[in-house]
Amino acid sequence: MTKRTFAVIGLAVMGENLALNVESRGFPIAVYNRSREKTDKFMSTRAVGKDIKPAYSLEELVQILERPRKLLVMVQAGKPVDAVIQQLKPLLEEGDMIIDGGNSLYEDTERRTQELEATGLGFVGMGVSGGEEGALKGPSLMPGGTETAYRELEPILVKIAAQVDDGPCVTFVGRGGAGHYVKMVHNGIEYGDMQLIAEAYDIMRNGLGLSNEELHEVFKEWNTTDELNSFLIEITADIFKYKDPETGNHLVDYILDSAGQKGTGRWTVMTSLELGVPIPTMYAAVNARVMSSYKDERVAASKELTGPTGKFEGDAKAFVNKVRDALYCSKMCSYAQGMALIAKASQEYNYGVSLPECARIWKGGCIIRAGFLDKIKKAFVDNPTLPNLLLAPEFKQSILDRQDAWRDVLILANQLGIAVPAFSSSLDYFDSYRRASLPQNLTQAQRDYFGAHTYERIDKPRGEFTHTEWAAQ
Ligand code: NAP
Repeated sequence: MTKRTFAVIGLAVMGENLALNVESRGFPIAVYNRSREKTDKFMSTRAVGKDIKPAYSLEELVQILERPRKLLVMVQAGKPVDAVIQQLKPLLEEGDMIIDGGNSLYEDTERRTQELEATGLGFVGMGVSGGEEGALKGPSLMPGGTETAYRELEPILVKIAAQVDDGPCVTFVGRGGAGHYVKMVHNGIEYGDMQLIAEAYDIMRNGLGLSNEELHEVFKEWNTTDELNSFLIEITADIFKYKDPETGNHLVDYILDSAGQKGTGRWTVMTSLELGVPIPTMYAAVNARVMSSYKDERVAASKELTGPTGKFEGDAKAFVNKVRDALYCSKMCSYAQGMALIAKASQEYNYGVSLPECARIWKGGCIIRAGFLDKIKKAFVDNPTLPNLLLAPEFKQSILDRQDAWRDVLILANQLGIAVPAFSSSLDYFDSYRRASLPQNLTQAQRDYFGAHTYERIDKPRGEFTHTEWAAQ
């Protein structure tokens, strides 16, 4: 038997689909799963007729792989990844490489990369986006870690990744935990996009009174625009026309308004706090999911806490265009935050991430794929030291042209009592970032008053700190 080029460990949803994807590009592969039943089921169903060889132990698996061995681990994130690595380590030889394609925490990836590189093995922590379908047909891949290992893997990864006009959606993201860091921020941005779309829906449905059919038409139209054309807008349009087979009514109206989360949004917020990078839109999106999970409490509170009773009066169709502009402005702010966070992490952790490449590999395969990523790529190519996306000429003009509409939407939402936390925090981000003076002069005075924390004066050189005995006057 010819030796196998590539192995997949873990045959749940993602592992199975990635295995089939790799095999379909002409690479002979081997698969292994901890519990034998899953391997048998895969081999007797989806793997029939494919160049896929099963192994029933890791010892057997490494024997049938050509060197340097390439093993993709697609098991549950966290301890299972460490368990598999520990079992593999004694079986591998110098130059072999392990790829972790799960949603691992970047700090774990950093630790695993260091540990394996010290033993002469390669480790690639690779973010994979696109869910089940992406894994099978072409995901966006965000590999980081041992660069020499990545170069060995590159001929395979470029073939299995999504293909766009700009090439395959894969690049060497950077050293250590860079791949999983960028995937985590990708997910944070995804949280932001989804929350912004949900808020646009809330205003149009409950504020403007649009029907599901009308919402379908609105999102379908938005998906044809340069600004909003994207996978998430496209599937949102589909959702509004889907009829529930049980009732014949729109399924979306039967879905409980309590959103789940698996942790990458929360991790994004946590790292932003550690690095001191404001990402209020993503933070609002995470909080909105948390608030949504308080369903019973909210139902009880809705009977006690009343809000405004007014109704929108005006031209709903014209106002829909303002909602579109508000969504686009907020989205620009959210991506500005995400890119600033990646830039800071790359600097802090010495990752060496290229922002244009990040935008490029998100253009296909992944959940946040969108036409406007081209503009983000261009903004950072044109100015590699751009401090914030909102300062790129095109984004600057887009937001300045639309800000009146954005503010009108927030005024209406406030008047009607519709919560728009991601829209609001995006506008707050814009209004804070664009102001030369913020009220933190008062904050500094208070800190100095109660804690002698000192402050700098605007009429003295920066770095010169003063303390005042405030109570003396
Ligand atoms: P999963 O449900 O997260 O994990 C199940 C797999 O992990 C099974 O193959 C299971 O083996 C294996 N496993 C669990 N503990 C193990 C251990 N101690 N030792 C060895 N194997 C162990 O699978 P998934 O949904 O395919 O996701 C895999 C990874 O990709 C996760 O990190 C996930 O977050 C990430 N991801 C998922 C998606 C998605 O859309 N699902 C998208 C992107 C990334 P047994 O069969 O023996 O239990």
